[in-house]
Amino acid sequence: MRQVAVIGSGPAGYYSAEALQKLYGDEVRIDMIDRMPVPYGLIRFGVAPDHQSIKAVSKRYEKVALSDNVRFVGNVCVGRDVSVAELLALYDAVILATGAPDDRPLDIPGGDLPGVVGSAAFVGWYNGHPEFAELDPPLDVAAAAVIGNGNVALDVARILAKTPAEFGGSDIVGHAFSALGGSAIREITILGRRGPHQIAMTPKELGELGHLEDATPVVDPEDFPPALDDALLEPGQRKSVTHLREFAGLPGGKAKTIRFDFFAKPIRVEGEGRVERVIVERTRLDDKGAAIGTGETYEVPCGLVVTCIGYKTPPIEGIPYEADRGRFANDAGVIGGGLYCVGWARRGPSGTIGTNRPDGYEVAERIAADIGPGARKEGRSGLDRLLEARGVDVVTFRDWQRIEAAEAARARDGSPREKFVAIAEMLGARGR
Ligand code: NAP
Repeated sequence: MRQVAVIGSGPAGYYSAEALQKLYGDEVRIDMIDRMPVPYGLIRFGVAPDHQSIKAVSKRYEKVALSDNVRFVGNVCVGRDVSVAELLALYDAVILATGAPDDRPLDIPGGDLPGVVGSAAFVGWYNGHPEFAELDPPLDVAAAAVIGNGNVALDVARILAKTPAEFGGSDIVGHAFSALGGSAIREITILGRRGPHQIAMTPKELGELGHLEDATPVVDPEDFPPALDDALLEPGQRKSVTHLREFAGLPGGKAKTIRFDFFAKPIRVEGEGRVERVIVERTRLDDKGAAIGTGETYEVPCGLVVTCIGYKTPPIEGIPYEADRGRFANDAGVIGGGLYCVGWARRGPSGTIGTNRPDGYEVAERIAADIGPGARKEGRSGLDRLLEARGVDVVTFRDWQRIEAAEAARARDGSPREKFVAIAEMLGARGR
């Protein structure tokens, strides 16, 4: 029997478990350890609450979770309740599927002023992550700046722009729903340090901005290269740029605007005790497509700044780490000594949820080649013994199902769930 521990129960963790099951059938036991009492990681805490169709992939993970040889071990923090070294002694293989939950910092003067928040915190706040429930972002201001030209910037801009009615059917948490309902923000500026051809936004997500009830996307036609150059783009990127070109032709007239400011590199955040403006330098592209400052600066007045410039995996002491890429040092998912990594912990924060599937399958095959029939390690019974001795209150998948039912029962009309935000509330909802 092979014993495998997966740390993290987000998409990368579940695809790895699914792959191991396919390879080994009944000849493997997989423990999925998560520091949260609830599973699915990014699906619950990262994917936008108004993108329920994306969140539906958790049904596939549930199927894996409910099989006999997979076990959810929630509310267990590796590093606090059990160490990686202890797991390596108990299991044939340990897979780090810990994602990239930390913000890359915006390293410019004033980047730490109150009112500047990272996307991990802001997204965590509207998605009910226990660590960010108290964020209380300033929404009593007229303007917000969103820094970055990726899909997270789009999520943040869209959530700031939506009307309460547009959150129908979403599972945005109550505290964010009411705070956003009272928001005074009318002008949202998306700052991109490069141009329309260099955006990292996918067409479906970008297209949504063209259909908002009370907000119009605004793009300056002057920012585009000649239309013929679009033919050089790969098809997805061409579609995204086509959306931007359409936005440039939209009539205004709605109460809110989402303004795309391209060739705009933030160099400083200013304000008396809180953010009041971002100082931006105009850029141009060099022949390699990098943004070069032109020396021309201007200010974007705003009372809220959300940085959406990428994430990083938190390092774990003793495990080789590539700080510049924000991920564990690895060779195709292999760290060494029985330790592996998948998903954003392996690749860095790029790609969609589906990208993690081949990734998990590849690592499962490497594990199969490395561990063969397994080394008769103690596995789950050893973990249970350790956790019991340490008084850890473990949450099982059955417990999660009770929490899930309780969240569904208290949902707003039309919403699939009202998430519990405090860990104690989640634990209390197990009803035991
Ligand atoms: P991303 O796609 O890597 O975009 C990061 C953006 O930040 C880029 O536009 C980058 O510009 C910019 N940036 C980085 N450092 C900067 C700096 N110092 N100053 C100004 N701008 C800076 O990252 P993301 O938006 O966080 O998304 C992460 C991953 O999740 C992506 O693969 C994304 O597609 C995925 N995701 C998907 C969905 C969805 O499918 N619905 C939703 C959310 C996220 P440069 O290009 O110039 O470096």
